[in-house]
Amino acid sequence: MRRMHLMYHGIHDGTSSPGHFDPVYSITRQRFARQLDWIANREHPNLFHITFDDGDVSNVTAALPMLVERGLHATFFITSGFIDRPGMLRRSNVRALADAGMHIGAHGMSHGFLEDMDVETLRRELHDSKAVLEDITGNAVDAMALPGGRGGARELDEALACGYRDLYGSRPGPDEDDPQPRWRNRIAITRELGDAKFAALANWSGPAAHWARLRHGALAVPKRMLGNARYQRLRAALT
Ligand SMILES: [Zn+2]
Repeated sequence: MRRMHLMYHGIHDGTSSPGHFDPVYSITRQRFARQLDWIANREHPNLFHITFDDGDVSNVTAALPMLVERGLHATFFITSGFIDRPGMLRRSNVRALADAGMHIGAHGMSHGFLEDMDVETLRRELHDSKAVLEDITGNAVDAMALPGGRGGARELDEALACGYRDLYGSRPGPDEDDPQPRWRNRIAITRELGDAKFAALANWSGPAAHWARLRHGALAVPKRMLGNARYQRLRAALT
């Protein structure tokens, strides 16, 4: 059966909530609770894979208890170089997530885009981000979310050589659509996403899914032509 990977960042009611508020990717506790309830009430809740990127402290202060309360699991892709910075997860928080049965994945050391790095830097980034998390949790780390969702054949080859099995990007859609099994599609959950639209995206049905794919396709061309720095500014203007 197809699996939907949902990409979250932080749970923030407003700018004074613990962690780093993001006007696009932070969602409120209330909305997150409703989305979790929707997932928990499905016939097969584990077909909806909840993931968090970056390692914001709200992953442990807000998201973890809400997941545990409903018996749900999630994968936390943590940028290893951000650990112990203000507003981000501390080492003890990362351990607490792992001890609670959550899956820990890598999200780079620096959060730099892998495809912009020379091969030596890329290898160091892939290796070090994994090693830091394995040292903290005592568990093997075999999944990675690409910073900015960016990567191609070179990044995949290097990641597999480094011991990763799954690479998560930000191409929207269910898993079965992807011709390369090592790449995982994901749906970005944004602050303004209402309940009906969330359900449509998670079920990958109707105009919401159609528009998500179209928007991603429309951004792929400028991404190639503009390079990552200018693309980031264009994308910011569009979200
Ligand atoms: Zn990120």
